[in-house]
Amino acid sequence: MGAANPVIVVGAGPVGLCLALALAQRDVPVTLIEQLSDDNFLDQVPRAGSNHPATLELFDQIGLYAKLEPRGIIAPKFQYWDRQDGTLIAEFDHAVLKDDTRFPFVLQCERIKIIEEALKIAKAHPLIEVRMATTFTGFAQSAEGVTAHVTDAEGTAETIRGSYVVSAEGARSVVRKELDIAFEGFTYPERTLNIEVAYDFKQHGYTERNYISDPVEYSNLFHWKGPPDRWRIHFPTDPAEDEGALTQPAAMQARLKRFLPLDRDFDICGCNLYAVHQRVAEKFRKGRGILAGDSAHVNSPIGGMGLNSGVHDAFNLADKLARILHGEADEAELDRYERQRRHVAVTHTQAQTIRNKRLLAERDPAVRRRNHDELRRSAEDPARARQFLLRTSLIESLREAERIL
Ligand SMILES: Cc1cc2nc3c(=O)[nH]c(=O)nc-3n(C[C@H](O)[C@H](O)[C@H](O)COP(=O)(O)OP(=O)(O)OC[C@H]3O[C@@H](n4cnc5c(N)ncnc54)[C@H](O)[C@@H]3O)c2cc1C
Repeated sequence: MGAANPVIVVGAGPVGLCLALALAQRDVPVTLIEQLSDDNFLDQVPRAGSNHPATLELFDQIGLYAKLEPRGIIAPKFQYWDRQDGTLIAEFDHAVLKDDTRFPFVLQCERIKIIEEALKIAKAHPLIEVRMATTFTGFAQSAEGVTAHVTDAEGTAETIRGSYVVSAEGARSVVRKELDIAFEGFTYPERTLNIEVAYDFKQHGYTERNYISDPVEYSNLFHWKGPPDRWRIHFPTDPAEDEGALTQPAAMQARLKRFLPLDRDFDICGCNLYAVHQRVAEKFRKGRGILAGDSAHVNSPIGGMGLNSGVHDAFNLADKLARILHGEADEAELDRYERQRRHVAVTHTQAQTIRNKRLLAERDPAVRRRNHDELRRSAEDPARARQFLLRTSLIESLREAERIL
């Protein structure tokens, strides 16, 4: 039996789509509102790309993993490098997680492919009404339900009734602002320059995912997609330099050649420059308005945890909303959602991404040496490597959240 009033999910990003699919799978009808239209939905700038084991298990529950695997790159290993002397510090292999997960690897698969496949499944689901080219502008709530205000592509206003409204709108959430929830944290002064190149870095010993420590210019290097093969490198940039100067082809060639000397130009396929925030919403819900994904927390992409932890919010919330709407639990369940997922956002995602950046950017030679020795010891000892990977793969954060009542 389906619950009567739909849950209104705002935003067909990875979090909104996973939430819609997980709710529908639990017999809860959903109205999914997305401001982009079918014509420009796939034109979004490249963002997340690393999908960790815990997330792959969740994708599998809604039939999404099978669609993504053929379009992605299986990456069982990742490496830490020291750019100062060009040496490999440590390599971690997800194979040590073979008893912890059915997916002992990361799937490199772009956000755009995830939402393209998830949207197709959502559109075909009888319990999901997908409203493309519809912009959410605000909502009102009462003890009985919510009324969402939206406008269509022509600017015509409309109201939609629902049981709850979930903001999966991303960092600029209208719901969060309407509920007057503070977005606590900070923004790094330096922006990150992300350059996409057609070049096989494997010939230099790199694996699919690489973290490169350097007191001057740390970076991350990922096998991003293929075929045709594309790699992405992220560099921190000088806050004083303007975007035009940073993304000039000659400046990007020089930066790439400082990273890896080459006797010809790199084939640059794209670039973007973005600000990096570390913020968590003070509350994840007020009454019938709920936050999930980037609308609830944003973090540095080092470690690839934003999309992943947002998808984990979605599945946690879907279980609780379904039980409430089917009369099997009361609304206090939503407070548990906040306790569990806010704890993960603060204690795992924020703490780990801040640590990841510090580790790569460390300037003190003695601390760098200590950090690198520690990484080496962790990688060489299977028990420690497993502990390390349980953390980076977000399995530990899910297990810990389950223990929070
Ligand atoms: C350069 C970069 C690289 C990244 N790399 C990684 C990575 O490797 N791994 C990782 O886990 N994370 C990564 N992230 C973070 C990741 O992209 C986000 O955490 C993730 O996309 C958040 O998903 P979301 O569904 O919450 O929000 P979004 O992906 O932002 O989706 C929000 C959706 O809501 C829609 N929307 C917004 N406002 C409205 C409105 N008013 N009405 C209707 N619709 C609306 C938008 O059009 C969009 O479709 C990266 C981020 C950046 C910037």
